[in-house]
Amino acid sequence: MNFQHLYGPIPSRRLGRSLGVSPIPLKTCNFSCVYCQLGRTVNMTNQRKEFFDLQDILGEFDFYIKNGVCKFDFVTIVGEGEPLLYSKIGELIKSIKAYIDKPVAVITNGALLSEEKVREELSESDLVMPTLDAYDQRTFKRINRPHKSISFDSYVNGLISFSKNFKGKIWMEFMMIKGLNDDEESLRKIKGLFNKINYDRLYINLPMRPPAEDWVKVPEKVRVELAQNILGGISLDFLAKEDFYSSIGDDFEAILSIIKRHPMNQYEIESFLNQRKCENKNVIFEKLGKDEKVEKVQYFGLNVYRLTSVRR
Ligand code: SF4
Repeated sequence: MNFQHLYGPIPSRRLGRSLGVSPIPLKTCNFSCVYCQLGRTVNMTNQRKEFFDLQDILGEFDFYIKNGVCKFDFVTIVGEGEPLLYSKIGELIKSIKAYIDKPVAVITNGALLSEEKVREELSESDLVMPTLDAYDQRTFKRINRPHKSISFDSYVNGLISFSKNFKGKIWMEFMMIKGLNDDEESLRKIKGLFNKINYDRLYINLPMRPPAEDWVKVPEKVRVELAQNILGGISLDFLAKEDFYSSIGDDFEAILSIIKRHPMNQYEIESFLNQRKCENKNVIFEKLGKDEKVEKVQYFGLNVYRLTSVRR
């Protein structure tokens, strides 16, 4: 079958193996972010619509699952534009969850969370990953270039309201751009807004892939470290990529054997466990938290695990 709405699964350091579902036509969005890797928005709209027949998308999903095309850890709804513009996203999420026992994530710019109906539709998802890059109307227009009907205040208030009631996890994303939002004053203003949102994690993204506007540049490393300190988030792009490996069969013992020589942060442990197809990552983290041999230290907003010096 030639899939039009499913892609992957792609390996993700955040989600493991992620099966993508796209219910939105290419570059149909209510933002036209200067850093967008898909280029400038072609269809600028804030009107929600069933762009593709829900049954067609579910039909592809049905085929994928019944034929066991490939194994995956997460289903991620991510448009080639803004997925909350899909008017049947609530039904899409419910149908996927009724079908398979896998978590469903939604990657969104978050602008439509200002609508109560949209917040309700997302309530069945397990993880929502919204973006917040700006700290006022001026920087919002400069960075995200939103549809004219979207104000910065309604956008931020929507994120705050959603975060107060949502039962799943929220992982915020912040795209950091040289000269636009990477100075200390901007970062402190953005931190003030993040403080009002109840989120579980914050990722600092960098425009590492070709952006819509060629003047968009990656901030210097020292600025990224400053952002990690101020925001308490983590930049995956600047993390050293380590391919940890252990021949020890037991996942917990394998981690102990590595951190004996090389401390690992939470993301490195997660990706190591994902590689090993570990199904009880939470249990491993709990064991690490309780084990007296293991020390958890904070470094640039990261939890780093190492063996305590007395036992080395
Ligand atoms: S919200 Fe996402 S898809 Fe839309 S312009 Fe921004 S980066 Fe591109």
